[in-house]
Amino acid sequence: MFPPEILKRFDLNGPRYTSYPTADRFTPEFRADAYAAALKTMQRRPASLYVHVPFCRSLCYYCACNKIVTKSASVADEYLDLLEKEIALVAEQSPALPIAQVAFGGGTPNFLSIPQLTRLMGLLGAAFDLRGDREQGIELDPRFLDEKYVKSLPGLGFNRVSFGVQDFDERVQTLIHRFQSFEQTAQAVQAARDCGINSISFDLVYGLPIQSRETFAATLERALSLEPDRLALFNYAHIPERFKAQRRIPTDTLPTIEQRTELFLYATERLVDAGYRSIGLDHFAKPNDPLAKAQDDGSLRRNFQGYSTHHSADLIGLGVSAISNLNGVFSQNSPQIDVYRERVTSGQLATIRGVALNADDHIRAAVIEQIMCAGQVDWADIEERFHIVAKTYFAKEQDALAQFADANIVTHTDQMLVVTPRGRLLLRAVAMVFDVYKNAKREQTITFSRIA
Ligand code: SF4
Repeated sequence: MFPPEILKRFDLNGPRYTSYPTADRFTPEFRADAYAAALKTMQRRPASLYVHVPFCRSLCYYCACNKIVTKSASVADEYLDLLEKEIALVAEQSPALPIAQVAFGGGTPNFLSIPQLTRLMGLLGAAFDLRGDREQGIELDPRFLDEKYVKSLPGLGFNRVSFGVQDFDERVQTLIHRFQSFEQTAQAVQAARDCGINSISFDLVYGLPIQSRETFAATLERALSLEPDRLALFNYAHIPERFKAQRRIPTDTLPTIEQRTELFLYATERLVDAGYRSIGLDHFAKPNDPLAKAQDDGSLRRNFQGYSTHHSADLIGLGVSAISNLNGVFSQNSPQIDVYRERVTSGQLATIRGVALNADDHIRAAVIEQIMCAGQVDWADIEERFHIVAKTYFAKEQDALAQFADANIVTHTDQMLVVTPRGRLLLRAVAMVFDVYKNAKREQTITFSRIA
């Protein structure tokens, strides 16, 4: 086990590397015309779509997502009008682009009624070439679902659903202001299975108020009893100065860093014991799930939704705050609905910031993605893809890697960098060694020799 002060520092500083460069490196100098140019010249290979639905009916205090809490159903119609304009602007640059994967996230995508979802799928189908064998997923909030809703989803092309669970303990639910009975979740799962949706995922969160090993063990057992195909185990980041709703969570109810570490290790052990495979940083999947297979054959990818089995890196994000990643650029839409509205109604893409990757970014992104997906880096692969000599190119990183190796966090040779089972908890810290933007800051603040 690592000293708590080291875990704490890594825990606070380590990005989840759903992108490299990380989103905090995006700048306002990257403008909509650069995104338009990237769309226009992108390859005609199957891409992914992400649609952000920002509305929620109730505020969860722990939430750090981009959302608008409202009870008004009519806001969704106006939002669809705006999405229609954005979809047309994107398709104007890259007409009938083939799409192999569609994901709806939020917010709460099931804030949209079935007629609204039908309209949205019609807009996507008219603008893009949605492949018949596409993977199509949606995040669902079981508190606001009925059987009829779930059973309408396959007819709209959905074959994957992800349920936000977080924690089944009622005392925890009271403190985070998210009241969701086990029965609600169980009924939603049953409805999905009844209509042939066989890819079901749960999101759980550890580090929430008053969680203990006992309470979280009970949550895990209840989750396991529903036999999800995948689970994601997210670490709650308490940043009340940034996320106002989190101020309603009393700090003294939060587990300590040691307790959170124990929760994560316990959950990992229990899930592996229950037959799930550990995927990357914080995901678990049944051995026959495509995520586990992709990890085995090296095709697992990291993206803004976590992990993906989709080979193409091209991602088009639609809606407020959505991020696109294609043709060597990241482009983020405005997170403010007023700005988003003003942009798309005046015929402009909604980009407010982003970045165009340079040659070094591409190399480091590939290394970091291998660490986050496979827990290892195959240097021969990197050398072949980028025509570099890895040891020379990453000469400055060798000291930090040697210190990680001394601490038994990694093993490192000229052929492979491998994160050890003990080092898995520090996967983000290992990836950070290759983050040229974070690296300078980290060298000033962290002494790796303190790792015991
Ligand atoms: S956690 Fe989900 S449902 Fe709750 S406020 Fe955030 S986005 Fe909405």
